[in-house]
Amino acid sequence: MLLDSPAVERLVDAFRRLPGVGKRSAERLVLHLLSAPESEARQLSESIATARARITTCSQCRNLTEVNPCLICTDDRRDGSIICVVEQPAGAMAIEKGGMYRGRYHVLHGVLNPLEGVGPSELALERLYARVDAGDVAEVIVATNATAEGEATALYLSRQLGQRSIRVSRIAHGVPMGSGLEFSDEATLSHAMEGRTLL
Ligand code: ZN
Repeated sequence: MLLDSPAVERLVDAFRRLPGVGKRSAERLVLHLLSAPESEARQLSESIATARARITTCSQCRNLTEVNPCLICTDDRRDGSIICVVEQPAGAMAIEKGGMYRGRYHVLHGVLNPLEGVGPSELALERLYARVDAGDVAEVIVATNATAEGEATALYLSRQLGQRSIRVSRIAHGVPMGSGLEFSDEATLSHAMEGRTLL
């Protein structure tokens, strides 16, 4: 136990819930914050609270954004006839960094996972169908991760969307099996987009 203080333990636990932070890193971060000037800790906590308060989900694509609808949904130079479906905002961010994709996005905030109780309604899939049905969508690119759940979600979406007269495609697997889009480099992602296949 660090410093035998419940307050400190709570802080360590909070850091450990962050992705990629183990017990030792959490303790190191906490010790740093406790020995640094108080202003540093206050600044961090205020930045977290401010960002959390300002960022919301886009009412159209469900990506994280400070303005609603987001800047990608309202950008006329983007191709509204293509929607790229990603699991998480990090996936959309990774594709954006590649700079090649000019369509729009739809963020699921998860994947179908019946064992954990995640079904179509938990992912608000009707919001995606509504966008497709609303108009000029010609293609949906499913860019869920190359995991069993990501593949199952892609298959499910292709069946649901296949009843509509649009193209449904899946990104190619330059993306390493079992990992997220955010861990692929930009060239790999661009190739994966170009090499997409019809579902
Ligand atoms: Zn949006």
